[in-house]
Amino acid sequence: MKRLDLKVGFSCNSRCVFCAQGHRRNQGDNSTEELKEEMKESREDGAEMITFTGGEPTIRDDIIDLVAYADDLGYDIIQIQSNGRMFSYMEFSKKIVEAGANEFSPAIHGHKPEVHEAGTRAEGSWKQCYQGIKNLKELDQYVITNTVVTKINYEYLPEITKMLMDLEVDQFQFAFVHPVGWADENFYEVVPKKSKVEPYVHEALDLAEEHPHEPNNIMVEAFPYCFMQGYEEYVSQLYMPDTEIKGQEHVIEDHEEVRKEWDKAKAGKCRECKYFEICEGPWKEYPREYGFDEFEPVEGERIESKEEVVPEEKKELVH
Ligand code: SF4
Repeated sequence: MKRLDLKVGFSCNSRCVFCAQGHRRNQGDNSTEELKEEMKESREDGAEMITFTGGEPTIRDDIIDLVAYADDLGYDIIQIQSNGRMFSYMEFSKKIVEAGANEFSPAIHGHKPEVHEAGTRAEGSWKQCYQGIKNLKELDQYVITNTVVTKINYEYLPEITKMLMDLEVDQFQFAFVHPVGWADENFYEVVPKKSKVEPYVHEALDLAEEHPHEPNNIMVEAFPYCFMQGYEEYVSQLYMPDTEIKGQEHVIEDHEEVRKEWDKAKAGKCRECKYFEICEGPWKEYPREYGFDEFEPVEGERIESKEEVVPEEKKELVH
């Protein structure tokens, strides 16, 4: 399914210390008409899914109108990527659902206010996001949470997993922090060593497997296979749909190619690794600061296609 990521601007009501767009927040936002034009073009080009992203899309005055327009254009999946705070207002949640939004991706970075808000630097943001998720589930909506893994929260990934299970979210993703924007400016404050994070990710995934409210999908982003031995099927890059990104400065037509060519990096020794063909490597800023010492090429017969590392029932989800 072809997907359009529509960046509506960079304004936001939180100030996450790891925000990849933090340095752009005063650039202004796209106009309603510009966004509608982009939505129309992409729909005519065959996009069936749209993700509203930013900045924070839900604080725009025209968000309900934009979602209704996407619905009129016939997008099948209308996803809202958000810090989740506005969904704590039930009236707002009802309105955006009535306008046509049918998938929600709130970002929750902790299992309690102290952890989440050490990242968001916005008092009250945990309670709002938590309540927002509850409201969306009450409205029977499909909820895919995103948790940015940083130095602040990596030791709590099992606790965060338990919370997400209790909330009965439909999917969740742990995304290793991308050190650009404020996350790069605050690199040593926010970027943990992957080898330290690894056991917590594995513990969280084990818990998720055992829990009676097991969500049907769990993913880990920007965490290469050498840290995911035995957990390869959870690597998010296996499942990402073809994505076109439209923003203020540019249009990216093939996000996977851009990630591989420009955003990610592998070491010379990666050529010896059995995952070399399918692995994107870490965000390139990571080895710039920490090097590649932790990355151990994995021995074994070379993996040629992504389908080889997933169980039978997930093969049709691979992109
Ligand atoms: S190719 Fe490199 S980064 Fe990827 S799994 Fe192998 S050693 Fe790790």
